[in-house]
Amino acid sequence: MQTATMDKIVSLCKRRGFIFQNSEIYGGLGSTWDYGPLGTEFKRNVKKAWWKSVVYERDDIEGLDAAILMHPKTWVASGHVQGFFDVLVDCKSCKKRFKVEQLTERGKKKLEQAKCPECGGTAFTQERPFNLMFKTFVGPVEDTGSQIFLRPETAQGIFVNFANVLNSTHRKLPFGIAQIGKAFRNEVTTGNFTFRSREFEQMEIEYFVQPKDADQCHKSWIQDRLNWYLQLGIKRDNLRVREHEKGELAHYAKACADIEYKFPFGWSELEGIANRTDFDLVEHAKHSGKDLGYFDEETKQRITPYIIEPSGGVDRTVLAFLADAYREETVRERKRVVLGLDKSLSPIKVAVLPLLKNRPEIVDLAKSIAADLRKDLSDCDKKVVYDDTASIGRLYRRQDEIGTIFCLTVDVESLEDKKVTVRERDSMQQERISIDRLKQYLKERL
Ligand code: ATP
Repeated sequence: MQTATMDKIVSLCKRRGFIFQNSEIYGGLGSTWDYGPLGTEFKRNVKKAWWKSVVYERDDIEGLDAAILMHPKTWVASGHVQGFFDVLVDCKSCKKRFKVEQLTERGKKKLEQAKCPECGGTAFTQERPFNLMFKTFVGPVEDTGSQIFLRPETAQGIFVNFANVLNSTHRKLPFGIAQIGKAFRNEVTTGNFTFRSREFEQMEIEYFVQPKDADQCHKSWIQDRLNWYLQLGIKRDNLRVREHEKGELAHYAKACADIEYKFPFGWSELEGIANRTDFDLVEHAKHSGKDLGYFDEETKQRITPYIIEPSGGVDRTVLAFLADAYREETVRERKRVVLGLDKSLSPIKVAVLPLLKNRPEIVDLAKSIAADLRKDLSDCDKKVVYDDTASIGRLYRRQDEIGTIFCLTVDVESLEDKKVTVRERDSMQQERISIDRLKQYLKERL
């Protein structure tokens, strides 16, 4: 069995409409990507699975949808204006640009000991800081007074709404706020497809706890988040947890662990889970002059909660699911590519296929079955398609390649016995099921 390479994934994504280069007809805009018809469904399903697990299946997390544009003071308080930099150098021989962090293996080596990954050169230019935030302007005058930023993380929208959520929901500690939304970073070193994009989506939870409970809570979130990926089918061997070393921690963090995935280009971060202490609420209180504390009924004291932050990227998660699910098999001496996605994530759940497209009775029956199922299953957000644009063998292969769970084939016999052949993606087992039992059959299995 063959597994994924980046070339294979990128090619499948383009060919089948998962992910396209952004502004492709103009030659593309670097490190920005557009999700096509199947990618849109798939990405929605990933976000839905996350939201279900953190907001609907727990009773301690509220949802939020904050604006991308925020008051510029936000980014002073958060430390991004002063500290959200990549430090860059150029290789003096091949002129390629690198992050110092990358050359020094996150501070393990000194820059003098580093080698250029491109040409092996050892001489680099002076270090230069580069702020990763995109700037824009509010209103008609483009001066420093009207300058704002596109948010580089969704988290700050949660911190500045802490008191609003607390007052409107009357929550007690511990509780969390979850948000999914776009974030923007003017990344300098890009590449690896959607892994590092300039516009991407984050799924973030800010979980507010009593300071004494923070360490324990941090540990349990690392486990919870790891389990989420496992439950959705990512192979255990392809996931690991990496604790940050002291020198690597962000300015706000007391501890941080990354969940890493073994991408075809190597182990890389999928999600970071940080203990942010009371840094954010303290800083926003200081800069805004507002009270962002919490009244502890038990001790009758005002405290500032600590924050545990599981922060994941939608696009990286989508890419990891694709890489993990991709497989090539040989079945009866023919190659088949299968996207073995979890059924909750597959962009299409059911495809209805006529065995003979030149027989109007078969086509009509297949279309009416598809229409019927669509009405019923779309209530539970399950996409059903009809396809007659190729021979049945090829139609099966196309559906396998995009991860469709069931193919329903309507043939000559179906006209007589009112049954269709239901083929399951992974086992390729086929069963004849009565048309009037189909809805029930599929609902039970999806
Ligand atoms: P990296 O070290 O890879 O740049 P980071 O540690 O800066 O990532 P965080 O600031 O912790 O990332 O952001 C939280 C999550 O947001 C990451 O785990 C990742 O999934 C996602 N993310 C961050 N930057 C990008 C990006 N440029 N493109 C896609 N996803 C991103």
